[in-house]
Amino acid sequence: MSELIFSKSRPGRRCTVIPKCDVPKADIPHELLRETAPGLPEIAEVDLVRHYTNLSRRAFGVDNGFYPLGSCTMKYNPKVNEEAAALRSFTGIHPLQPPESVQGALQVMGVLSDCLREITGMNAISLQPAAGAHGEFAALVMIKAYLLDHGQPDRTKLIVPDSAHGTNPASAAMCGFEVVNIPSTADGLVDLDALKSAVGDDTAALMLTNPNTVGKFDTNIGEIADIVHGAGGLLYYDGANLNAIMGIARPGDMGFDAIHLNLHKTFSTPHGGGGPGSGPVGCNAKLAPYLPSPAVTVKDGGYAFTSPEKSVGMLKSFYGNFLVCVKALAYILTLGADGLREASENAVLNANYMQENLRGAYDVPFPGHCMHEFVLSLELLKKETGVTAADIAKGLIDRGVHPPTMYFPLIVHEALMLEPTETESRETLDHAIAALKELRQMAAESPQALHDAPVTTPVGRPDETAAVRNPVLRA
Ligand SMILES: *Cc1c(COP(=O)(O)O)cnc(C)c1O
Repeated sequence: MSELIFSKSRPGRRCTVIPKCDVPKADIPHELLRETAPGLPEIAEVDLVRHYTNLSRRAFGVDNGFYPLGSCTMKYNPKVNEEAAALRSFTGIHPLQPPESVQGALQVMGVLSDCLREITGMNAISLQPAAGAHGEFAALVMIKAYLLDHGQPDRTKLIVPDSAHGTNPASAAMCGFEVVNIPSTADGLVDLDALKSAVGDDTAALMLTNPNTVGKFDTNIGEIADIVHGAGGLLYYDGANLNAIMGIARPGDMGFDAIHLNLHKTFSTPHGGGGPGSGPVGCNAKLAPYLPSPAVTVKDGGYAFTSPEKSVGMLKSFYGNFLVCVKALAYILTLGADGLREASENAVLNANYMQENLRGAYDVPFPGHCMHEFVLSLELLKKETGVTAADIAKGLIDRGVHPPTMYFPLIVHEALMLEPTETESRETLDHAIAALKELRQMAAESPQALHDAPVTTPVGRPDETAAVRNPVLRA
């Protein structure tokens, strides 16, 4: 463990020397004064800078190296977008300023919503939700309001495929829906027969990702939509990862009624550091009256805040994580329609390049091409050598590659899920492929070395369960 900033504190050390006070001292009322000084570290600037710089080097981020975390789209985020979000005219405004005085900010929200409508094929967008799961929750609250409004309170069941992201059933349960799981086929797609027997008068909606969490595009989507709509249910799209389909396919055209997006995966905000994020919710005309409020609309040649007719209300303070939206808009405008499509094409190409180069060394459980991500199964490897998916992932750390997503999706045993993204060069992909092949060889020849990995990090194998159950957040 590294030393805390507090233990480096020495009485009297300071980063700044404040000039002697040359104005009369203000008389602060006694009851407002603290009795003891705050326990802040006293430290010189040079030690402060070194402390945090060294700490930052112990973390691994997209700016350090390859980070092929499946279902999470850890791609490089161009710094120009950060610069746009750091503009004083955006950071210096107050959320309670009258709309007339912040027309530029409202325009950012308006234009971004228009771009996202175009990219997804939906009728209306709200930028309010703060994350993907929050966007799911927003859409499900809207679906619930719609069903109640249309005299269908008995539609209480949400169908979720077993390959779904864990937030899907969690959001459904939080909204008071009953979750009905349906299995996937051996190809990793929706089992149409299972879906047909699951839908009925009690179906509120199907929650689906396409391409799904095993990296497959479900070409039966038209039929899936017909089955769900035919039973009177709605179709919800988990669009956390739009990286495979931008400019190529649109959830609106596939028949989805509601969606959420993760701007902090696809649209240029690093993700995984705990925020801030943005999970806009989109919907078709049927659900638009239920969108969260306030909404940004064009009015009298300018932009104004309005409330959709039957709005489910406010789901977050003010208007969402505005600066994340600025970055997303900068990203979309710099790439343009052609650039977005190219990004998706390269994301899919990179994933297939890796998948095909690893086939043979590792078991690829689903047949055919993948979209933006792919899954490896190490079940057989574990049986033969005792080396687990976690061991291989730890071995990658020693070779400068962040571990892929592990043990997800749940339907693949000993899963490693890789999403290289479009921003990686062929050299980077080749390095990761070579590392994975080397580790496969090691698994056969010296499995213990892999059980001992990583050996290059300050912390090797933390007790992950204890870290979640009993986090020590302060010394
Ligand atoms: C990341 C992700 C989510 C959840 O997004 P958060 O912003 O982490 O809440 C939902 N669905 C899928 C498919 C995801 O990859």
